[in-house]
Amino acid sequence: MNKFIPFALPDIGEEEIREVVDSLSSGWLTTGPKTKRFEKEFSEFLGQDIETIAVNSATSGLHLALEALGIGPGDEVITTTHTFTATAEVVRYLGADPVFVDINLATFNIDTTKIEAAITPRTKAIVPVHFGGLACDMQAILEVAQKYNLKVVEDAAHAIPTTYQGQLIGNLSSDATVYSFYATKTVATGEGGMIVTRHPEVAKRARIMRLHGINRDAFDRYTSTKPSWHYEVVAPGFKYNMTDIAASLGIHQLKKAWLLQKKRAAIANRYDAELKGLPLHLPAKVVNDDIQSWHLYVIRLDDSAKVSRNTFIEQLAAKGVGCSVHYIPLHLHPYWRDTYKLRSEDFPCASYAYERIVSLPIYTKMTPAEQTRVIEAVKKTLT
Ligand SMILES: *Cc1c(COP(=O)(O)O)cnc(C)c1O
Repeated sequence: MNKFIPFALPDIGEEEIREVVDSLSSGWLTTGPKTKRFEKEFSEFLGQDIETIAVNSATSGLHLALEALGIGPGDEVITTTHTFTATAEVVRYLGADPVFVDINLATFNIDTTKIEAAITPRTKAIVPVHFGGLACDMQAILEVAQKYNLKVVEDAAHAIPTTYQGQLIGNLSSDATVYSFYATKTVATGEGGMIVTRHPEVAKRARIMRLHGINRDAFDRYTSTKPSWHYEVVAPGFKYNMTDIAASLGIHQLKKAWLLQKKRAAIANRYDAELKGLPLHLPAKVVNDDIQSWHLYVIRLDDSAKVSRNTFIEQLAAKGVGCSVHYIPLHLHPYWRDTYKLRSEDFPCASYAYERIVSLPIYTKMTPAEQTRVIEAVKKTLT
């Protein structure tokens, strides 16, 4: 019996394991030298002197970034409905309201032509999501943000490494960019995240708020020349700091980010070549020489497909292939739907896509034989 092919799998090597063991032996488990190093190497990865703030998840990173940018009760934040609930829930943490916008059916990214209509006098920020690792139309987003004086915080949970007009996501002129190192993401530390910002005051606030509103982090607290017991609480902060154990993983995962991207791109290219001609729509491609991280490989079944999406997933599972759905759009979840009186017909593209999308397995350790099994299972199910 062939073993089950999962839809995602982390790629942890000996270097990561050695680094974690080193942290365990060092006696320093939580935020310390490895976290500092990971932050420094993250800015080197982006190739610029930019503020990097390591946190324990992208959810906390998005929360801290919006908090530091002054988003609060009564404000509105525009985002896409086609995302994970974390993107929008952080807006609620701050007492603000997310305003959901429909997607472009080809890219699954926010439909930038519909942003302006969603702006009200309460709008303070836009949170675009680079779905699956394909960059949003950032030029359009940054232009509308500038026109209406809105902050931009990129949800880059899928976007390491992703480029837009030749620049790595994180290097654009947004106010902050937030990455996720969750277990299934392209660079994985189990749990973890990173905030990147060009504003020193945003970075300062996020650093304080990530650790109980204490004005120096643990690393400084134990190495500074002030008495080691002394610290000041300046705000009711959060417990969002990254551990050195996670940073140990991140340091080596980041070194491999380009290699991992190449492996994912090769898998995506093979799917593209072998699935074309079937009653399905292949994922959108970058328009020029840009790079997509290929966090996800999402196909959309055509209306002529002989099975429904749900049946398709069941039949692949029966053939030992694990698929998933990214995402059940937020406007269909009870909390978001009922709180904001959202209707399916207000999001025609996202609602239509939702019924037909499938995330096929894509992970760097997938063997050619495993991918053949996935391709054969897809072909059998659709022809
Ligand atoms: C995974 C994910 C998040 C949350 O990341 P965590 O690190 O798990 O908090 C946010 N937004 C999107 C689009 C995601 O896929």
